[in-house]
Amino acid sequence: MKITVIGTGHVGLVAGACLAEIGHDVVCVDNDPSKIEALRAGRAPFFEPDMEAMVQRNQKRGLLSFSGVLEEGIAHSEVIFLCLGTPPLPSGEADLSVVERVTHQIATLADGYKLVISKSTVPVLTGDRIQRTMEVYSGRKHEFDVASNPEFLAEGTAVFDFLYPDRIVVGVESERAEKLLREVYEPVVRQEFQWNLERPCPRDGRKIPLLVTNRNSSELIKHASNSFLAMKISYINAIANLCDKVGADVTQVAEGMGYDHRIGPQFLRAGIGFGGFCFPKDLQAFVWIAGKNGYDFRLLREVEQINAEQVDSFLQKVKDQVWVLRGKTIAVWGLAFKPNTDDLRFSPALAVIEKLQEEGATVRAFDPKAMDDARKEYPSLTYCGSAAEAAEGADALLVLTEWPEFREIDLKALSKKMVRPLMLDGRNLFDPAVVREAGFEYCSMGRP
Ligand code: NAD
Repeated sequence: MKITVIGTGHVGLVAGACLAEIGHDVVCVDNDPSKIEALRAGRAPFFEPDMEAMVQRNQKRGLLSFSGVLEEGIAHSEVIFLCLGTPPLPSGEADLSVVERVTHQIATLADGYKLVISKSTVPVLTGDRIQRTMEVYSGRKHEFDVASNPEFLAEGTAVFDFLYPDRIVVGVESERAEKLLREVYEPVVRQEFQWNLERPCPRDGRKIPLLVTNRNSSELIKHASNSFLAMKISYINAIANLCDKVGADVTQVAEGMGYDHRIGPQFLRAGIGFGGFCFPKDLQAFVWIAGKNGYDFRLLREVEQINAEQVDSFLQKVKDQVWVLRGKTIAVWGLAFKPNTDDLRFSPALAVIEKLQEEGATVRAFDPKAMDDARKEYPSLTYCGSAAEAAEGADALLVLTEWPEFREIDLKALSKKMVRPLMLDGRNLFDPAVVREAGFEYCSMGRP
């Protein structure tokens, strides 16, 4: 099938590359000329495992191309995915101005039937707005459909998640839209594609469930899912805070809970809280749209509050150990909002760092992937060539992103190079016994 993807960011580029990989003829459009230039040269504009190779392979096969011209994308196909940003406004409401603008442009430029599919995360009833915009600006010259197809991929495992999703959800209001979307996803549903990832396919030849709902339900499924996951994280963080007070170990509590198949072990890692471009803004937008429609989502407001407090409670731990921050050198391991990505958006690590600097500390930072972008946004940090270099001469070491490679560092040698071998592990990355054995004082989240 010919497919157009508008917005070539973390979702659009992965979707475009994977849709080409499963055999479609895809044009990805973006209004950022530097992204298009890099992609045409085979370079991914951000780090995501497996993606750059997939982009290059499908460009060579002639199934994936990039354009900075919206008209070209609209003319290419009748199936158009919107993968545009939906950032938060100060009120918490999702900013849908880009979605509105592009929809308006599609309506005026369309040369025939179009199926406009929102893959961006949008509040419930946004599809109705897109539908209305198409009606108003197309002059009803051509037929069109508007569908919702939320994306559930996670950065760091995005290619894997797209090709082996737990489910595909399509929200449609017509048989034609349903038929087209089933056709788009047929190779994923049947698991008929060539790409070999390092991780084996977890599906054992089973079909991927494709759930067809109406548009409003589909939009709600995305917000409800992300908010539920955020709630799990805040739940275990609340438990961790209680563990700190009573001398229990939150990793053991989480393990004991997670064996229960009704609960499951995922998203029960205590730490300094969730961040990234999805959970914080999606929670806010969900609370906002619920309120607008007459439901005060108190449960989710509390989830947000607990998350915001995690950074403060971690900083309190730092201060309890270091006492005065002014004049101290603090090493920070990890800047990205989670491992295996260079995405800094709404990263709790940066929230911690800003507060350290406000209190007069000097911060020496290292992140395996996110330092190029961080240098531009936070020029006042000292960026180091390695994790060990960041810790040298520091009064304390803070672990803020759980990159697995930090576990490989020779802590014994490192402890001798610090002014004070003190580690505050905001992600419970390390085994406390191992760190203490290496000569460190050690504090973590919800563990004695
Ligand atoms: P992003 O900022 O990485 O990508 C958006 C892209 O749209 C950018 O490349 C930008 O240049 C481009 N763009 C902006 N205006 C444009 C225009 N007028 N025409 C063409 N391109 C334009 O955002 P993202 O992380 O890919 O997220 C996109 C949507 O998907 C959001 O709604 C997000 O909530 C949702 N989502 C994100 C993730 C994730 O892990 N990042 C996962 C699932 C869903």
